[in-house]
Amino acid sequence: MAGNEPTIGVLALQGAVAEHLVMIEACGARGVGVKRPSGLDGVNGLIIPGGESTTVGKLIDEYGFGNALLELGAAGVPMFGTCAGLIIMAGRVEGRHGPVLGLADVTVRRNAFGRQVDSFEEDVIVRGIEDESRPFGAVFIRAPVIEEVGAGVEVMARLEKGVVMARDGNYLTSAFHPELTGDTRVHDYFLRMVRESISERDMEV
Ligand code: GLN
Repeated sequence: MAGNEPTIGVLALQGAVAEHLVMIEACGARGVGVKRPSGLDGVNGLIIPGGESTTVGKLIDEYGFGNALLELGAAGVPMFGTCAGLIIMAGRVEGRHGPVLGLADVTVRRNAFGRQVDSFEEDVIVRGIEDESRPFGAVFIRAPVIEEVGAGVEVMARLEKGVVMARDGNYLTSAFHPELTGDTRVHDYFLRMVRESISERDMEV
């Protein structure tokens, strides 16, 4: 692998960390699990995985990640939140707890598909990924839904219940788990965002 491939951190507090690392490597980038704020040094992009958002929110506080993550976002480093990660990044959260990082201009509802339906897979059209007319087999596990998006937010995928993938500038969010399929197109899309942000920053210096 070329030495100049981007490094993608995966917040490793809880949840589907290993699966994201496998996908990042499959896309030809370097993946690192981030267990402490110092682990964010030098990452070119960050994935906040699924899990349980109340627990992840508490661990973010406990390990002192809050400011470091806000600074990373403010520095223009692309971030991708999947499922609970989307809830952690959302500007507004309906239901039991309020926003955690409040980075992306979206309103989410937790467990929007009902507790009885623990998980399901559905083919969704994701705008902007490679070969976008070919559906992506999206896995939903006690998933949230995006109920509202701000004016600058690009809706990338939706189901009848609402929006399930959206991009707000450098913040990418999905209600489903793209790391649980063999399909790398969503991670490839995120890596494209990362590579673009690196070359934009190179041009600034
Ligand atoms: N329902 C979970 C929450 O609210 C998210 C589930 C997931 O990440 N798979 O945190």
